[in-house]
Amino acid sequence: MTDVSALKPGSTIGIFGSGQLGRMLTTSAAELGLKTHIYSDVTGPACDVAAENTIASYTDFEAIKSFAKSVDVITFEFENVPLDAVKVAADYARLSPDVRALEVAQDRFIEKSFMAELGIPVAPFANIESKSDLAVAEKITGFPAFLKTRRLGYDGKGQARVTTPQDLQHAYVELGEPAAVLEGHMHFEQEVSVLAVRGSDGAVAFYDLPQNTHKNGILNTSRVPSTVPADVIPGAHDIAHKIADALNYVGLLAVELFVMPEGAANRLLVNEIAPRVHNSGHWTQDACQVSQFENHIRAVAGWPLGATDRHSAAVMTNLIGQDANDWARLAAQPGASLHLYGKRQARPGRKMGHITEIFPRTPQTKAKT
Ligand code: AMP
Repeated sequence: MTDVSALKPGSTIGIFGSGQLGRMLTTSAAELGLKTHIYSDVTGPACDVAAENTIASYTDFEAIKSFAKSVDVITFEFENVPLDAVKVAADYARLSPDVRALEVAQDRFIEKSFMAELGIPVAPFANIESKSDLAVAEKITGFPAFLKTRRLGYDGKGQARVTTPQDLQHAYVELGEPAAVLEGHMHFEQEVSVLAVRGSDGAVAFYDLPQNTHKNGILNTSRVPSTVPADVIPGAHDIAHKIADALNYVGLLAVELFVMPEGAANRLLVNEIAPRVHNSGHWTQDACQVSQFENHIRAVAGWPLGATDRHSAAVMTNLIGQDANDWARLAAQPGASLHLYGKRQARPGRKMGHITEIFPRTPQTKAKT
């Protein structure tokens, strides 16, 4: 356990990254009387709302040192913060979650191996260092399979679905022959995510499981309640709890799961984890007493966790690229909360905002009859 003294209101939380997640963390921190200081190599949506910003390279260790000295705790809003930067910062300020969570989440092979060590099921996978590993890998996973770069893949980038050995060879060359993993294609019933928050005293709380759909590899909708069978939920919680405890995690942890059909060898498979607030948890802003953002801030500040109870049913839809140009119509939609990130250019595939529709509460699952 890493029980720490609670930061007093007026304290400053340092955040690596300046994206929309940092922006929403910042507004939640402000609600609790806490300030944030953003460190990023680009000016992003979080910079509009933070009390302070440092825009400098992740290799500028002097800038990182001054940043770390000026804050009371450091967290991050994206998992690909360069580890050297984080390690320098951790010499001068408490880091939550710990650097180990980043090491695991930054590399798909390390991530899957970590799950396997904990006895948590994942899709069959194989490590690929070079072309010569492809033949062995395809024997392990079979076809169809997903070829994914080990590092820096997100929103469907750095991956390809392959159906034959020729296809695999071709896709590997197309990706630039990187360190990669090959993963069996899982024919899941649905995709859900566990949003767990672990406090500095080791207390863990869960939000209801959102059911997620993707479009072009990018999250499209998250819906609560999900249609996941009631008997699957405790297993999903156990997985997230095990991961959070193993990482001595403090903050919001998202675990993306494939729910396999009844009768499958393993009903739940971990796809990946995100050691941060997560897009599939944005509905908690409007449908829960305390959002994922506030709970992450509470956890890293050493405060008691807030209630994760859901008071409404909700459907969150991402506004990607040009979708956000429709803001005037969306803003007029009854029963919906519009969230825009203030990004100037609506490039295709870019997350510009989200809209959450709220309905009267229905329970997470219906009991089996
Ligand atoms: P990822 O970037 O790994 O989160 O993958 C993005 C999306 O691609 C997932 O949410 C799934 O919808 C799909 N996907 C990824 N890996 C697999 C797999 N092994 N089997 C089936 N679908 C997958």
